[in-house]
Amino acid sequence: ETGQSATDKRVLLLKPRGFCAGVVRAIDIVKIALDTFGAPIYVRKEIVHNSFVVNELAEKGAIFVEDIDQVPEGQRVIYSAHGVSPAVRQHSKDRKLKVIDATCPLVTKVHVEAVKFAKQGYSLVLIGHRDHDEIEGTLGEAPDVTQVVSTAEEVQSLEVPDPERVAYLTQTTLSLDEARDIIQALKIKFPKIVGPHSQDICYATENRQIAVKNVAHSADLVLVVGSTNSSNSNRLVEVSQNLSTRSYLIDNSAAINPAWLEGVSTVAVTAGASAPEVLVEDVVKYLHQKGFTSVEEVEVMPENVRFGLPPEIVQAISSAP
Ligand code: SF4
Repeated sequence: ETGQSATDKRVLLLKPRGFCAGVVRAIDIVKIALDTFGAPIYVRKEIVHNSFVVNELAEKGAIFVEDIDQVPEGQRVIYSAHGVSPAVRQHSKDRKLKVIDATCPLVTKVHVEAVKFAKQGYSLVLIGHRDHDEIEGTLGEAPDVTQVVSTAEEVQSLEVPDPERVAYLTQTTLSLDEARDIIQALKIKFPKIVGPHSQDICYATENRQIAVKNVAHSADLVLVVGSTNSSNSNRLVEVSQNLSTRSYLIDNSAAINPAWLEGVSTVAVTAGASAPEVLVEDVVKYLHQKGFTSVEEVEVMPENVRFGLPPEIVQAISSAP
């Protein structure tokens, strides 16, 4: 026995955590579209990378497809928060689809930068994870002049037609530390490289990582609520592990291995930008049953970002009976 009583076991609930403005907006768009136009509504790819959210919307009548080919001609399709390439837009046009675009405005910002740099004749280095939906979309803006790198090592083997005319952009949900190292390596290799006006890593990714950095040292374990394909959630686990605090990504409380809690007196709980609060509550309840009865919310910084709805949804609401 450590001399601690069971009541010493506590949960630190990080804030900000969970839904970002882009995710709230994307989910609202699907719900409003279903309410206004009725089912079925097709959604290209997972609207946000969370299985609970996707299942809930599927139950309401959303049909998730991987490819535009799977949407019957003339039907309505929603693009996910991660954005799409111009090729996908064209494909939808060819199939006469009615498009509702739920791309996060902060992803669109990166697309706009990619188009701008490509027009100005830059070679583009896109820092991100090749298999992620967002990178597929951004890469598609200027595929002939864009190369994707995921590590500082990969920077070494980059080859461009003119090393004096190179620009970089990043995925919105990267690790701040890793992105910094990769950008540093790029600056050494291409001293004249230019980047975005303000960083592409979004406020929600940054704030959630900073919160973990602030609290990881006070915890024995950091639980991150999020799905395995959620980039920003995976990064939160890494941030904690890099600070030598054990951390796991969990979809919900059922994914918690009770052995993880052995000898643990403080658990920090956070959630990725696509993970709903109801799943956090479920985890806190589970921990309560395991003796973690004190719950303390640790607010590292305030966060009040909201995005407006896209015009096609605003119009639909205003012309609804
Ligand atoms: Fe937008 Fe950032 Fe949320 Fe992605 S994580 S949807 S970029 S706010």
